[in-house]
Amino acid sequence: MTRESVIATAGLTKRFGRITAVDSVDLDVREGDVYGFLGANGSGKTTTVRMLLGLVLATSGQMEVLGQPMPSNWRDVLPRVGAMVEGSAAYPHLSGRRNLALIDAAGPGGQRADRKSRIAEALERVGLLAVDDRPVRAYSLGMRQRLGLAGALLRRPRLLVLDEPTNGLDPQGIQEIRKLLLDLNRTGTTVFLSSHLLTEIEQMCSRVGVLERGRLVLQAELADLRRATGRVEVRTPDVDLVRTLLDGVVEEYDATRLLVRESDPAGLNARLVRAGVRVTALAAEQRSLEDVVLEAAAASGDRFGGIP
Ligand code: ATP
Repeated sequence: MTRESVIATAGLTKRFGRITAVDSVDLDVREGDVYGFLGANGSGKTTTVRMLLGLVLATSGQMEVLGQPMPSNWRDVLPRVGAMVEGSAAYPHLSGRRNLALIDAAGPGGQRADRKSRIAEALERVGLLAVDDRPVRAYSLGMRQRLGLAGALLRRPRLLVLDEPTNGLDPQGIQEIRKLLLDLNRTGTTVFLSSHLLTEIEQMCSRVGVLERGRLVLQAELADLRRATGRVEVRTPDVDLVRTLLDGVVEEYDATRLLVRESDPAGLNARLVRAGVRVTALAAEQRSLEDVVLEAAAASGDRFGGIP
């Protein structure tokens, strides 16, 4: 069954004078995805996110968010979308709780009746309930980031759109945000997040889109991208013995490891063990996201812009 479309763009383009920041992008994000929007600094991620949220007008192209045309239907769409974009501002002299109340009151379609309970729920989800009365100027960067996320969660959104949500966080903060987003996703929220960090996307996302100088050079399920290569990686102290046994199918080797062309890892393992090989590890080789991204960038004819 195909899952419902949550974000769909066709030929989405944004020019700033002579710069084409976003160049004919066709995004396809489905219900239940954790979609990673990967691109080097300056590749056009923030501009795309801002267009999706109606904060910047596209030069050309079409967009649908939650099945409705944007920006024309923003009144219906935006109350169901939680967003955190670069530089989300907060009033430093006010508490986190007070800032959230202002965000909720200012946003489209805010329901006053249950505001208090929604604010408490959002603060609790991001782990700020205990410090909610401190002024935001006393918050660490990580706490501010979490407050931004709480703002995105206020309306219990169906879709979360987050621009670099872990920027500036320490490893523990990154892990907490990652866990929170995966929990939200499990309970039915579709997550669209941009990042310039390949490892972050690889660890969290089910689907990935790669932006390279404004162009979408790759969009696919992560599991498909990482499918097995048809080779098996064997780790053993008996490399020479394995080379003799498997003459003709060993494609690469070094002192402790071989790459063998073989589609049946379990069968290979049994055969090696029967022959007396001390196998320390054996697994089907998978392509890393880095390999896939580099290939896609090369195929698109560009030198890659340097995603770490
Ligand atoms: P970063 O991760 O550094 O935020 P990004 O992938 O989000 O990068 P954008 O901020 O979307 O990239 O920028 C894409 C390109 O568009 C850049 O060349 C940038 O300089 C340019 N750009 C963005 N906003 C404007 C603007 N308001 N006026 C002119 N140029 C802009």
